[in-house]
Amino acid sequence: MKAVCWHGANDVRVETVPDPKIINPRDAIIKITSTAICGSDLHIYNGYIPTMEKGDILGHEFMGEVVELGSSVKNVKVGDRVVVPFTISCGNCFFCNQDLWSLCDNSNPNAWMVEKQMGYSPSGLFGYSHLFGGYAGGQAQYARVPFADVGLFKIPDGLTDEQVLFLTDVFPTGYMAAENCDIKTGDTVAVWGCGPVGQFAIKSAYLLGAERVIAIDRIPERLEMAKTYGKAEVLNYEEIDVGEALKEMTGGRGPDACIDAVGMEAHGTDLMSFYDQAKQAVRLETDRPTALRQVIVSCRKGGHVSIPGVYGGFIDKVPMGAAMNKGLTFKMGQTHVHKYLQPLLEHIQNGKIDPTFIISHRLPIEEAPHGYEIFKHKKDNCTKVVLKP
Ligand code: NAD
Ligand code: ZN
Repeated sequence: MKAVCWHGANDVRVETVPDPKIINPRDAIIKITSTAICGSDLHIYNGYIPTMEKGDILGHEFMGEVVELGSSVKNVKVGDRVVVPFTISCGNCFFCNQDLWSLCDNSNPNAWMVEKQMGYSPSGLFGYSHLFGGYAGGQAQYARVPFADVGLFKIPDGLTDEQVLFLTDVFPTGYMAAENCDIKTGDTVAVWGCGPVGQFAIKSAYLLGAERVIAIDRIPERLEMAKTYGKAEVLNYEEIDVGEALKEMTGGRGPDACIDAVGMEAHGTDLMSFYDQAKQAVRLETDRPTALRQVIVSCRKGGHVSIPGVYGGFIDKVPMGAAMNKGLTFKMGQTHVHKYLQPLLEHIQNGKIDPTFIISHRLPIEEAPHGYEIFKHKKDNCTKVVLKP
């Protein structure tokens, strides 16, 4: 099959690789019909995520048709159309039982090794390095889905791929980011980053009752999207002092909640290449978590800080004193996608949101390297690339 393979920082290639096979009775094989490139893939593309190996298959936002099932998967059939949450979860452990799906204890086959190095082990993710289980990703023609009885979500007839594809990640991620703000009627929510995650966070903040959403980025097209589609007030952080502007817009108090939908900042140029150090130390450092710093400094006293943005290893210069003395509540994490699939599908079905607004590019899988380039550099008005395998 064809697959998008990682070969180093800024180097992805479309290669012919062996088809995946069932290796466990709870597995399924999916023939992929649509798959997207995520801001999280850019961290890998930028070389920020350690333990990638040359030839690893990328991608964690994918959907398709079930073509083969392990013997113990009974709740889906061959031929079913499904979306696949990017987080891999067993459905039976302490964490899965508490709806904390992205913290599953059984989905990272490398846990024993990772834990030795880091003191904890993250759950398995598709296409996201050996730290996260070493699973082949879904920017490919086929993928193996483990724990398929809980890891496949059947799509009802009458919905297109593009309407449901983002249930795999960025829609639930934006939604959970807003939910983590504990929004009360009348609240003002500020969102740093108007990429796909930020855009869905804006929409979700309104769905959850925010009165005002203020969105921050530097890319005019993305700010425009936040304004026209998301109904947000927008600030360009390259043109104004964000902290001052937010104060002014909120009567001097600051937003009730602030969302960091940026994470390790991929400005379109490499800030620095961490890959080699990171590989050695399973550790990543940056002294420029600008968005996160602004989030903490801007949030009102007693407010909520929600961090869907992905960080790795250590980050430096986080104003913990301000966070402590302002009594901020922090919530963050990989998204518990499984928990949000049904309720967000219903929002799509009843017309509360049409997730297709985010798509700017549809490319054959062969053009994935071009897709990564334009998404990284935000060229050609690129907001989201969907690949057609
Ligand atoms: P993206 O790269 O398309 O968007 C990031 C946006 O942030 C860009 O528009 C960029 O211009 C903007 N930005 C950069 N620095 C900024 C700053 N200082 N202030 C304000 N805006 C700034 O990525 P995306 O797909 O929207 O993903 C956003 C983040 O969410 C990434 O870190 C990604 O890894 C993460 N993510 C997390 C989860 C999760 O489960 N928690 C899931 C998916 C993505
Ligand atoms: Zn993603």
